[in-house]
Order: sequence, then C-alpha cells, then structure tokens
Amino acid sequence: MSTPFIRNHQYNFIKKQTKFVLHTLRTVADRRVLETVRYRAARNIIEDFPSLTEKQQQMLEQVSVYEKADEFEQYISELEPYLDSFPPITIKQIQKLFPKNKKLKIPDLSSIDFRYITYLSWVDITTNRLFIVYPFEGRFIGIEGRLTPTHKKGYCLFCNRQQELAYFVVKNKPAHSSPGDYHSTGQYICMQSHECNQSITDTASLEKFLLSVQK
Ligand SMILES: [Zn+2]
Repeated sequence: MSTPFIRNHQYNFIKKQTKFVLHTLRTVADRRVLETVRYRAARNIIEDFPSLTEKQQQMLEQVSVYEKADEFEQYISELEPYLDSFPPITIKQIQKLFPKNKKLKIPDLSSIDFRYITYLSWVDITTNRLFIVYPFEGRFIGIEGRLTPTHKKGYCLFCNRQQELAYFVVKNKPAHSSPGDYHSTGQYICMQSHECNQSITDTASLEKFLLSVQK
C-alpha cells in the first residue's frame, strides 16, 4: 500500500515544476542549461517537503531524468496514489464550526474528491456568503464572509495566480475588544474555489489570512 505524503498544493507545485522543465526542454537547446533546470526542479520539489523517506525522495527526483511529455504525464499520474487527502470531516463537525449559522447550507460531501482540495469551500448563493474550512494543526478552522464578484482578473491571495477575482470580506471580533466592536478584513481571492484549489502551490498566504480572521 502506498503511504500518502503529498498534499494537494504540493502536487500542484510538482505539476508546475514539470511544466517548466518540459517547456525548457522544448525551447532551450543548450544541454548545460537543461541539466541545471532539471536539477533545480528536482531540488525545488524535494525542498517543498519538510521530511521525506529515501524512497519518497528517489521517486520525486525522477523528474530530472525525463525527456518527453508522456514521461512527465506518467510521473504525475504515478504520484497520484500518494496524495494525502483533506482529512475526513462530517456535516456535524462543519456545523460546529459555524454555530451562529442556524440555516447553514453544506455541499454534498460525497461529491467532493478530497484528494484535490487544500481548503474546502462553498458559496451560499442566496446570501452571497463564502464558507471556508481548513485543517490546521489537528483541528479545523471555519471562516465565513461576504463574497462580491469583481468581474475582473487579478492575482488571488491564496493561489497567487491570475484568475477571475471576488472580494471576500470577513467580519471578526478582535481579542480584548468591547461588545459590538467588529473588525472587517477584505481580500481578493479566486471567484471559483475549485480553480484556486487546482492552482494553489503554497499554503502560507491562505493560513496567514485564516488565522488572522478566525474568531
Ligand atoms: Zn486562488
């Protein structure tokens, strides 16, 4: 059995590195440059993991030996069984994260492929509210806020890709504040969270934001 060790954002990062190597192979003739790029790609991938077994490292390093598009595709698909899924979560656990929301609409969890999500999110279209659930240090963080489409492209805070953006505003109550004293934080993020989950290669900005607005 394969032990899962690759999180969705790391899988996206590996895909991004393979794309770059393939692009270099197609456009650069200098073998020395090619070798450097392949070596760098393997290093970048390895360094994206805080710890790896020898076998896992060898498997990831294979990126530096491939030449053809189908070899890279195979490399990516062979890593798929090692995807470390978003942790199992129940409807009850989600409801507990949003206790004030009595009419919380939760998506059909069985329709979600949890291997390919870094964060779970959905929009209640009747209220234009976005809900985000994220696993952090053995627990789940749940935040909600108003989502306003911008109908413009720009860089998303979470995935740092140019995407169709929405403005996401979260109201939270700062610690040691007086009753009724709310603080709003707004950020531009992907309008479509499935695209964001396919693009995100680093969780730092996402985590920083979630931790800053959590209740
Ligand atoms: Zn995004």
